Amino acid sequence: MIPVRGYEGQRVAVLGLGRSGLATAKALEAGGAIALCWDDSPEARERAEAAGLTLHDLSRRDAFENLAVLVTSPGIPHLYPAPNRHLARAYDEGVPVDNDIGLFFRSFATFEWDDFDTTPKVVAVTGSNGKSTTSALIHHLLTAAGRPSQLAGNIGRGVLDIEPARDGEVVVLELSSYQTDLARALTPDIAVFTNLSPDHLDRHGGRGGYFAAKRRLFAEGGPDRAVIGVDEPEGLYLAGQMAEGPADDRVIRVSVSRKLAGPGWQVFARKGFLSEYRKGRQVASIDLRGFTGLPGSHNHQNACAAFAAVRALGLSPRQIEDGFASFEGLPHRSQFVGERGGVRFVNDSKATNVDSAAAALQAFERIRWIAGGLGKEGGIAALAPHLGHVAKAYLIGHSAREFALQLGDTPHEICETMERAVARAAAEAEAGETVLLAPAAASFDQYPDFEARGADFTRAVKNLLG
Ligand code: ADP
Repeated sequence: MIPVRGYEGQRVAVLGLGRSGLATAKALEAGGAIALCWDDSPEARERAEAAGLTLHDLSRRDAFENLAVLVTSPGIPHLYPAPNRHLARAYDEGVPVDNDIGLFFRSFATFEWDDFDTTPKVVAVTGSNGKSTTSALIHHLLTAAGRPSQLAGNIGRGVLDIEPARDGEVVVLELSSYQTDLARALTPDIAVFTNLSPDHLDRHGGRGGYFAAKRRLFAEGGPDRAVIGVDEPEGLYLAGQMAEGPADDRVIRVSVSRKLAGPGWQVFARKGFLSEYRKGRQVASIDLRGFTGLPGSHNHQNACAAFAAVRALGLSPRQIEDGFASFEGLPHRSQFVGERGGVRFVNDSKATNVDSAAAALQAFERIRWIAGGLGKEGGIAALAPHLGHVAKAYLIGHSAREFALQLGDTPHEICETMERAVARAAAEAEAGETVLLAPAAASFDQYPDFEARGADFTRAVKNLLG
């Protein structure tokens, strides 16, 4: 645990008592603050009480008196579409609002600097897609090269739940836009921006607000190095804004759509080969095509971003290449599940939006595509240019009919359930094809979350393969 500094003897409200809220309250108490906890759900309050925490009803009239700060959880809307009522009241009464990420940056290794030979560093990863894969890959590359590392944030443990800093350690944080939007301190040593595509726009008041939230990671802290995917205008803009000029190597530009030229520091992948250029000269090249944990150009983007981050931390291209080879990928992200008669089965249940589904549809040659669930605004209309590899779609869930209409000439069939979709796709698939779950939709119509959906796909495939 990282004890929270700066609030000794002060009253701090903690709103939202899920996993991160409980960890935050404990970390506040460990640092000497008085943690006052609240959640509108009685079950969550019971859990907190059972964990020995103090409840504090934020609906009471005097609830906000003498609060130093209110710490909120990522699931609670703080501004759009409308602020949660407790947060609205905090704004009204002038009580500062922060989250566990802000507390972490204030507290991590703050008082121990003199004890370190090599000071610990923090790498923070944000972006629309590929955050988890990139964070896990950075952590894996460091660990494989023998460097101490911890993985936290959206993936792994809560940020305040990790072990105190060790000498020379690197903490890798995956941060969502909700987290970067609210945190009052954001000072990573290396900040990574993977890419930007429209998602969660309702929570950020549109694409501009969503970008602004992610961008705070760069603006607030002024990281020593910024690794920035420049394949969208926002990334390109951000890279230009961070750099003093084209040769400034505090910014490492990343692309999977073109060869990057210029005197700065660049990492890009083309035709399956990663290249690193510095000062106009190539300094490394890695063939990415054989790494089973990193299939497709979207994973090559993640590989480039992770490569850049760990190069900035001093790893050699050879160490990184070895690490790529031993990376197994994450569950539910282009995860290989099994093979029968030359047909491969791949679980990409995490492809909950159109962009991540498009990425998956490009990663395999001929696809039996299982899609559907609770479709997002616009359905799959935007996927029309990406259907070239699809032999046939097998549609499930609430949006199956809407998706069918949008598929036009692409062969498709409405299967309703995962069980049936897997059976039909497997029955029709020919050697060399991939049965791919990449739903392009949320899972909540049929499952508690995307993990349960991916597990159901995996179970159905395993049953079939015997
Ligand atoms: P995040 O943590 O940002 O949601 P993940 O690594 O969990 O990212 O991947 C989410 C989904 O997006 C998965 O379906 C995955 O296959 C796909 N994906 C992974 N990396 C990228 C990328 N760089 N660009 C587009 N899609 C990606």
